[in-house]
Amino acid sequence: MEALNILALADKLRTEADAYEFLEDLRWNGQPVCPHCGSVRKPYFLTPANGASRKTRTGTASQRRVWKCADCRKQFSVLTGTIFHGSKVPVRTWIFVVFEMCSSKNGVSAREIERKYKLTAKTAWFVTHRIREAMKREPLAGLLSGRVVADETWIGGKLRNRHGGADPSRRSVHPTRRFEDKTAVVSLVSRETGEVRSRVVPEVSGDNLRAVLDEHIDQPATHLHTDAGTHYRRIVGEFAEHSIVSHAQGEYVRGDVSTNQAENYFSQLKRSIDGTHHHVSREHLDRYLAEFDFRHTTRKISDTERVSLLGQQVGGKRLTYRKPACGD
Ligand SMILES: [Zn+2]
Repeated sequence: MEALNILALADKLRTEADAYEFLEDLRWNGQPVCPHCGSVRKPYFLTPANGASRKTRTGTASQRRVWKCADCRKQFSVLTGTIFHGSKVPVRTWIFVVFEMCSSKNGVSAREIERKYKLTAKTAWFVTHRIREAMKREPLAGLLSGRVVADETWIGGKLRNRHGGADPSRRSVHPTRRFEDKTAVVSLVSRETGEVRSRVVPEVSGDNLRAVLDEHIDQPATHLHTDAGTHYRRIVGEFAEHSIVSHAQGEYVRGDVSTNQAENYFSQLKRSIDGTHHHVSREHLDRYLAEFDFRHTTRKISDTERVSLLGQQVGGKRLTYRKPACGD
């Protein structure tokens, strides 16, 4: 695919039919796949009777591109079975929002999408969250291995719970209330590829950490790096190796062992949440994390490649993902 930017995209997507074709290229790459039976053998395009559009149930004209599978005899479009399925939002709008979310460094707020694309607040929220859902699917959901840093942080917290109220110059948090209104997040960062998996946990405990590590790490193939927190000390897994740096003793890097990658990731994450989204509810934080993880994991590839990759994830289809080159 040629390099994408907002102008190239606007040029490419003049009509809804263009948008369908664009998505067909992204998802199928010239070879339509029947989402009902998986057949690639015989899907054929159904040309509308008037050559350009067909009537919908409500009588309006639709430029939806419809295919039919000769194996199972069912009809489908490139939207069938994807995050776009069954929404009234124009396909063009979806693609523009996908592009914005893939190309902006700190993410895009639902408010901004609402204003730019003339959607209702509710629809803008729905569109951005559906795209975040796709961001955590295969191929970006594989197990981490190699040198992996595990660390936790706390996100959020309301100003009114702080001493000094809304006056920023007087904000300070009483030690006993420090974590009360914050949400705990555990992140795993690959030191080789920079891939990240983050999860909200109800509290930082041995069991919760364990669950996150089990879900995302190929343990026998992993050298785990953590700080000296009690929960991490007690981790006994099938890890090839587990090294600890003791922050309490002023140690941040020892030889090759460090948790800096996670700390860096957390500071970016917090900057994005404060700057773009202002406040993220605990309930939805997992999806925002999926978005930040996606962007960080793919930070070495171009916007165009990132849109392509997401195009593969909208339907949950698997594809071999070329890992970014070594770095950091
Ligand atoms: Zn079929």
